Amino acid sequence: MSEESKPLVLVTGASGYIAGHCVIQLLEAGYRVRGTIRNLGNKKTVARLESLVPAASERLELVQADLASDGNWSDLVKGCTYVLHVASPFPASAPDDENDLIRPAVEGTMRVLRACAATRGAVKRVVLTSSVAAVAYGHPPDDHRVFTEEDWSVVEACDPYQKSKTLAERVAWEFAQDLAADERFELSVINPGFVAGPVVDSAVNTSVELVRRLMTRAFPACPKIGFAIVDVRDIAAAHILAMTTPDAAGQRYICAGDHYWIVDIARILDAEFRPLGYRVPTGNLPYSLMWLFGRFDKSVRMILPYFGRKEMVSHAKATAQLGWQPRPAAETILDTAYSLVERGVVKRTAAYRPPPTDDA
Ligand code: NDP
Repeated sequence: MSEESKPLVLVTGASGYIAGHCVIQLLEAGYRVRGTIRNLGNKKTVARLESLVPAASERLELVQADLASDGNWSDLVKGCTYVLHVASPFPASAPDDENDLIRPAVEGTMRVLRACAATRGAVKRVVLTSSVAAVAYGHPPDDHRVFTEEDWSVVEACDPYQKSKTLAERVAWEFAQDLAADERFELSVINPGFVAGPVVDSAVNTSVELVRRLMTRAFPACPKIGFAIVDVRDIAAAHILAMTTPDAAGQRYICAGDHYWIVDIARILDAEFRPLGYRVPTGNLPYSLMWLFGRFDKSVRMILPYFGRKEMVSHAKATAQLGWQPRPAAETILDTAYSLVERGVVKRTAAYRPPPTDDA
């Protein structure tokens, strides 16, 4: 196949953590990629993306787009066979106005999907990055079931981020189902759990920030908050599987592993990094203290309602239909921390040694 005939994939929010790994895996698999970023004038972001993999110089094109603006979306999807719509605001704390989150998520998704419909079949499939935030939240606290793709978060009882993800996914399904025959494209959705794993540069997104805080002892002890962890490399792989697996059309897939409390994550980090001179907190932070921290720190305030709540979700469908398998969470957690040190986000100690490599 010549370079020109390889399918072109639009990846929205290419500057982001998950999207960056999608771009890497797509390029490595031989696709051509058009990545949207908000500001093409940001030379650092452009240079970073262009150096992701050797193939980037020939097969990666960067374009400017904002979810909040009608802009040029129809030009951006031109020539694309697939679209991975990954971009969506994912802040560490709730904004004063929830619409600052919900609007770009919902209206941005609609802008991307309308542009895809207007290609009249040229775009074959869209993979939307949703979240378990659109599946397992807003349910009564005594609802301890393991959530599946059949479940939807209850918007009325959700925080702004969960609302933004739930509403964006819902409008996407409604839009795709109501399309006229000549506008139709296939839709597939990935619902990741708490994503960690290597960072590709020094930018730290909201989920990786937790590992940074543990490694730098930014909090003295661990609140009883937990997540269903998943590796960013496995999430990127899931997007490509959802893009290429015929039966994935019209399906949503939870991609998340086992539930880990923050203290479990801290213990894994402590066992590896204590001998290297890091002092990861492994004690328990009582609710009362967390409440107190929450008075000064909006990001703590945002997670306070989830104290003691287990995030229990099943990835059985992704495994059965996509052949998707998450790697062990311990590998993800350690690789996150090593990458933060290697990228200079977390300071090296005198005793620090890089992680052993496979060929070492
Ligand atoms: P990042 O913050 O790294 O990525 C978010 C991306 O969205 C960035 O590229 C950001 O651009 C872009 N973006 C935000 N607002 C806009 C806008 N108005 N117009 C255009 N682009 C915009 O986070 P992640 O990579 O972790 O998140 C990516 C996706 O995955 C999101 O949809 C998120 O909801 C979802 N997700 C993430 C999980 C996690 O644990 N990380 C879990 C489940 C789902 P810019 O760089 O310019 O800010």
